Amino acid sequence: MNTTDLGNLVQFAFLIGASLFAMGLHLMNSPASARNGNRLSAIGMCIAVISELVFVANSSPGIGNWLIIIGGLLVGGAAGLRLARTVAMTAMPQLVSLFNAMGGGAAALLAIDDFIRLSGQRTPEGALASLDGWLIFFIVVDVVVGSVTFTGSLIASTKLMGRLKGQPIILPGGRFLSAVALIVSISCSIVLVLAGAGLFNYDTETLDVLLIAALVGALIFGVTMVLPIGGADMPVVISLLNAFTGTAVAMAGFVVGNVILIVAGALVGASGAILTKLMADAMNRSIANILVGGFGVAEGSQAAMTSEGGTIREVSVDDAAIQLAYASKVVIVPGYGLAVAQAQHGVRELADLLEARGIDVSYAIHPVAGRMPGHMNVLLAEANVPYPQLKEMDDINPEFERTDVALVIGANDVTNPAARTDRSSPIFGMPILDVDRARSIIVIKRSMGRGYAGVDNPLYVNPKTGMYFADAKQGLANLIAAVKAQ
Ligand code: NDP
Repeated sequence: MNTTDLGNLVQFAFLIGASLFAMGLHLMNSPASARNGNRLSAIGMCIAVISELVFVANSSPGIGNWLIIIGGLLVGGAAGLRLARTVAMTAMPQLVSLFNAMGGGAAALLAIDDFIRLSGQRTPEGALASLDGWLIFFIVVDVVVGSVTFTGSLIASTKLMGRLKGQPIILPGGRFLSAVALIVSISCSIVLVLAGAGLFNYDTETLDVLLIAALVGALIFGVTMVLPIGGADMPVVISLLNAFTGTAVAMAGFVVGNVILIVAGALVGASGAILTKLMADAMNRSIANILVGGFGVAEGSQAAMTSEGGTIREVSVDDAAIQLAYASKVVIVPGYGLAVAQAQHGVRELADLLEARGIDVSYAIHPVAGRMPGHMNVLLAEANVPYPQLKEMDDINPEFERTDVALVIGANDVTNPAARTDRSSPIFGMPILDVDRARSIIVIKRSMGRGYAGVDNPLYVNPKTGMYFADAKQGLANLIAAVKAQ
């Protein structure tokens, strides 16, 4: 087969790959079909990678070092497989963040490599005039966005792993450094693009220095952008960085003229951007507000927050079981602690028991409960909780007033009424599940420990609330036994 025929065949394979990505994304709309969606997208990616390798092997014999390519595929593939198989569901966001960093970093490296290759094509004076002006534009955007994503995502995953504190970290002069890094990066990028368009005629060294300055500025900006963001804003930032990764990959596609990279990057970029907007809306925050929000938070303000005062009322497992067994409507509010304890099967068993007694049971799902978008849906689907029982925040909130018992299991921030009432609270304005409006509330958690946002929760001193201090899994097992005894 000649190179043109092979090229056409590869483009056709890319089309199939791209269609599988789009169909896969569509199937991810529902938890019932999401697994198949994932499989379809993975098949699409395999088709794309294999076709590209076949094309490269045929069209440029002797290209590169196959040992590195195959070795990279094997090492990267094995590491990815192992990570994906062993990661705890609760550690998913930091893994996604690491993948974002890899994607952004790889895309930036690709563009830097192309820039170096193009260096050899400059005129003796070093002018970039012979270059396609658009190409240098794509290279520069790729380097800048990819680098911001790389360092930003590394910081985000370090925060989520708990190796850096999850609260906003305000560096002295951080805001100034951030502004300088951004200005340097953007202005050097603009000059490079104009040079590519033939407006300036710089020598090679100057062009290299400009690219390095744009790169370093972007790397610093990634760090200074994410450090001051923390607490409940982290999910939105991860999603935003995901959109950045997609953009960088799409730009890399333009740089190396690879259609499937452009399609895959555009899909990730667009879906990441939509998710960012949806999550920011769910938190009642604008994206701009989140990005600059950390600047307004004084260092140590979390520590200064004190408990609301008031008395904590503990309930015994038998008291909790009696309340549940004789209720007519129970709403279960799952949160991060349920996921940590892997208590999803227990909660399903308890719900089944209550339903068997004729009690109306539903689950209240907050959009940022847990540690990743859709975390509670995935967790409960794993225990085969019937999907119609899961109620989104806006649907369940009006029902709390008619609820006999709201059973909160390992959820904290998403139930914190301070978000409605306390203007000084870092989570003020975040929509919450109106658990405090239920007739009575039972909270299962291990201690008075705070949630991800690090703030006190006045729900725990509400006279209607009974605290049952236990690990979610063990507590549910005790509760199931006690309900059975009723
Ligand atoms: P929170 O993080 O607010 O609270 C979880 C609670 O679970 C803790 O207070 C803890 O209390 C309790 N807990 C921990 N382990 C156990 C256990 N084994 N058994 C019982 N309880 C346990 O969780 P929410 O789901 O309410 O809120 C999610 C938070 O995470 C929000 O602030 C959100 O913004 C943030 N976030 C969300 C992401 C997403 O995409 N969904 C991503 C990143 C952050 P104790 O120690 O006393 O047991």
